[in-house]
Amino acid sequence: MNLSSLNFFRGLQRNNQQFAIIGLGRFGRAVCSTLYNLGYEVLGTDIDKKRVNQILNDKLATHALQMDSTEPGALKQAGIFEFETVVVAIGNYVQESIITTLNLKEAGVPYIVAKASSEIHSKLLHKVGADYVVYPEYEAGCALARSLTKQSILDRFDLDPDHSIVEIIVPDQFHGKTIAELQIRNRFGLNLLAIIQDGKFEINPEPTRYLEQGSVMVVVGCNKDINRLPT
Ligand code: ATP
Repeated sequence: MNLSSLNFFRGLQRNNQQFAIIGLGRFGRAVCSTLYNLGYEVLGTDIDKKRVNQILNDKLATHALQMDSTEPGALKQAGIFEFETVVVAIGNYVQESIITTLNLKEAGVPYIVAKASSEIHSKLLHKVGADYVVYPEYEAGCALARSLTKQSILDRFDLDPDHSIVEIIVPDQFHGKTIAELQIRNRFGLNLLAIIQDGKFEINPEPTRYLEQGSVMVVVGCNKDINRLPT
């Protein structure tokens, strides 16, 4: 398992209040506006003045400025190196995206998230120091395919292409049985992390805990094993 994926969790744990977003296309704009509406301070930047003005007019960022992020001097002047988390949301311009990520890494930005537009782009971003790479088109396609085939899965976090943490509705066959009786680890190779009942998480449930219809299990393991769980 590629544990570098857990960088994602580390990123979430950071007590960030400020974010810089480089590139204000559809993806960058969505990241920017969502963080801003959640109450965080967000600096949005783009090389295109129109996109900068748009985000300011629509009041979707705290600050926004025009800047070429391939220029280390421009990044420094804009104060981008002082941010703990910077999102490189330049998907379609691979060279600019790679140079920008490298600039941020060399300046010591602690947590760099970058958007990839292809598998090779994703590899290059990792190589130049991105801490977490998103590949939204690919991930959305995989998620759709999975949701079409395994409808009891409510949510999923991919650790790597073969392993995930999923929230799954307790299968009918598990109703009224204890965790010890079900032997989920022995039979399916999965670890039960938590049970969600009435919206409340019960982390590390006791082996004597009964599972009930309508509850949700949070399990971690191999996707093939997750698919073997009954529905
Ligand atoms: P989409 O908008 O199709 O979802 P995306 O969000 O990946 O795709 P891109 O088409 O990759 O968006 O463009 C992202 C933004 O990055 C554009 O607004 C573009 O002007 C900006 N950009 C490109 N090069 C630079 C650069 N050197 N410095 C700053 N911004 C840049």
